[in-house]
Amino acid sequence: MTDRQSHPPADAEARRAIAPVVAYPDTSLPPPDLALYTRAREGATLVAETVAAPREAATFRVPAGHFFRITSIQGPQVGDLNLWAANDLSERFFSGKTRALHGTHVTTGDRLWSCFPYLRPMATITEDTLAWYGTDPHGGRVHDVIGTRCDPYTHHLLAGDDYHHCCHSNLSRALAAETGMPVTKAELLVHDVLNVFMCTGFTADTGQYFMKASPVRPGDYLEFFAEIDLLGALSACPGGDCSAEHSSDTAACYPLLIQVFEPAGGALQGWTPATMNGYDRSHGL
Ligand SMILES: [Zn+2]
Repeated sequence: MTDRQSHPPADAEARRAIAPVVAYPDTSLPPPDLALYTRAREGATLVAETVAAPREAATFRVPAGHFFRITSIQGPQVGDLNLWAANDLSERFFSGKTRALHGTHVTTGDRLWSCFPYLRPMATITEDTLAWYGTDPHGGRVHDVIGTRCDPYTHHLLAGDDYHHCCHSNLSRALAAETGMPVTKAELLVHDVLNVFMCTGFTADTGQYFMKASPVRPGDYLEFFAEIDLLGALSACPGGDCSAEHSSDTAACYPLLIQVFEPAGGALQGWTPATMNGYDRSHGL
């Protein structure tokens, strides 16, 4: 170990004491019109529903201006959510930038942003029955955009065997079935998720990603407003409530209900779908 690595400088404490600044202050983001969404939701009707079976994923389509709700049924269960622009699957949810803009966990009023070069809101969270949870004594919060998704590659790396019902594989199979593409092609479109209902944080001492039993109970839901036409996929994670482990058939696992609601005609007067990011893409050339 070099001297510079093992011996802190004389002003180490002064450097550590510098106050942080928020990297992406969200004060200049145009706020969603939640009052409009609430009014539109009041007269909305259920137009579609599907169920993600335990250790499987389901796909669903949501036209721009509709709502979709993910509900816990039967038992505590975490869901891994992917979103694509319905007419162009290269535009997909960007969990890293959503995290940079809104924080490690999302709730009502936060938006799910799409990848470059689109970088526009795909959906806005309009209701969260677990908003009461806040931050627990361990630093845990609900609905994270930290975790990537459980996957058979990391499992193979760490455990040495093959498990086929990780969220990555569930999402890949569901997308393949929806689009007709081979699963090896579909998996390239699967991306880092929103961990719906999952309770996570970082350990204070080592900074490691942790999970703990989700506080979700049957009847709890997370609801979204679609800002563009969406194709979604939701996996009922093999980890169940993620209190102990994932990437196995050990945990108790329950289905998740997905419902789509259409507002009454004229209820969204003045609203238009999100437009693509305004950057000119010349990159200085
Ligand atoms: Zn999972």
